[in-house]
Amino acid sequence: MWRLANKSLPTASNLLDRNIQTAAKDCIHGCGCLETDCHIFFHCQVAKAVWFATPWNIKWDTFEANSLAEKLILIANPTNALPVHFADKEDFFLLAVIVLDQLWKIRNSTIFENKLFSLVSTMDLLKIRFQEAKYAASKAIRDGTSMIGVVARDHLGEVLKIRAVSFQSDIPELAEAYGLLQGLILASEEGWTNLVCESDAKNIISGLNNSNLQLTHWSAEGILNDILFMQGLFQSVVFN
Ligand SMILES: [Zn+2]
Repeated sequence: MWRLANKSLPTASNLLDRNIQTAAKDCIHGCGCLETDCHIFFHCQVAKAVWFATPWNIKWDTFEANSLAEKLILIANPTNALPVHFADKEDFFLLAVIVLDQLWKIRNSTIFENKLFSLVSTMDLLKIRFQEAKYAASKAIRDGTSMIGVVARDHLGEVLKIRAVSFQSDIPELAEAYGLLQGLILASEEGWTNLVCESDAKNIISGLNNSNLQLTHWSAEGILNDILFMQGLFQSVVFN
């Protein structure tokens, strides 16, 4: 995502921007369009077919005028703009990153290996790559290292900050508690005063709401006490 956002992929329009002459400046897929980043990744007939074949049937037509950076922000914040349910946000983001990467690979294999694009085999491959990415994320937890993602959103659901921290423990409940604590630390750094903290770990949430930590894993007690202490530093903190 970083590489794309920084326009460092050498598509023809970027090369022309830098006054580098290239032989082929039209899209390799034969649409008669100039090969810009936006074209290759969103508006090309190949890109359109792939995005529409995802479970969310994405169409980018109404975003033709939007810049590449604006489209990438939409991928991170799809709710209300794209037909992606709030609960699917993370899965959509993961698949979207894989789609962008795959579109770039398709472009290259068409140019360099003369391969013909096939929607069916592309979607099969995307399905496998998506499962692998999800598996890699869950495997990290089994291996004893958790990557904890803290996503801060405002009251409209817009993403304000994303923080990723690694954590040495294979106890999911402990990782969830640590994630909540990191969220509170982030909020205090940012000067936010009214918080809603969300977690999938229901017994942690109910333990925090009742200040009763008996049902939570014993190893999480220290972190949970830190969370309860930090709660007092804000105007309001709701655990959900
Ligand atoms: Zn094209």
